[in-house]
Amino acid sequence: MSKESIGIMGGSFNPIHIGHLVIAEEARVKFSLSKVIFVPVGIPGYRKKIKLLDPERRFVMTLLATTSNPHFFVSRIEIDRKGKCYTYDTIVELRKIYPEDKYNIFFITGADAVLSILTWKNPKELLSMCYFIAATRPGYNLKKLNDKLKKICLDCETRVFPIQVPELSISSTMIRERIIKNEPIKYLVPKEVEDYIYKNELYKEEDPWEEQSKIEY
Ligand code: ATP
Ligand code: MG
Repeated sequence: MSKESIGIMGGSFNPIHIGHLVIAEEARVKFSLSKVIFVPVGIPGYRKKIKLLDPERRFVMTLLATTSNPHFFVSRIEIDRKGKCYTYDTIVELRKIYPEDKYNIFFITGADAVLSILTWKNPKELLSMCYFIAATRPGYNLKKLNDKLKKICLDCETRVFPIQVPELSISSTMIRERIIKNEPIKYLVPKEVEDYIYKNELYKEEDPWEEQSKIEY
């Protein structure tokens, strides 16, 4: 019996935007994934300086953004973790539910993120437990990415699959900046996410988001 393939889409989703949804759907169709599980990060293992919005709010927005797609699911696996989150630990946990003999796991990520894979926790073990789908972002081309992957590690060529996705130069950083500048985010995030952000007045200030812990649905 052939193995079932599932996708895991990790991210901070701060907030989730259509760039995330487009790469997840493109990966699902190209790799015949039976489902894609979105995994919002709890406390990131490695993080740039910015503070993330309350995990529960990022979780709710991820749910709102994905419910209309019957193949998309959202997991609390990292949100509920007490300590820092590393992709390696998440895949180890997921492997208990989706064992190697029955499932292929494809971790979906942006090309920029995959290039730093060797700095992640236990990269060799991670690469042996799952495949990676690296979606190219605007500014990247596949040849350049392939060349870089070859230099990173021997396994990378066989375990990492670069895919070209329709280019959307959208990032969560850009969404947050647009909100501060009172610029529209309509069509850059799903309508439900836009409504949730405005209703709860999220991302209005540059820093103290973690204080906004009162959750309204
Ligand atoms: P931030 O600006 O806060 O870093 P982000 O838009 O990069 O946010 P993340 O939640 O950090 O979003 O990203 C989750 C994954 O989605 C990462 O692997 C990232 O590379 C990828 N990604 C995000 N936006 C795009 C996009 N427009 N095209 C392709 N990949 C993307
Ligand atoms: Mg990012």
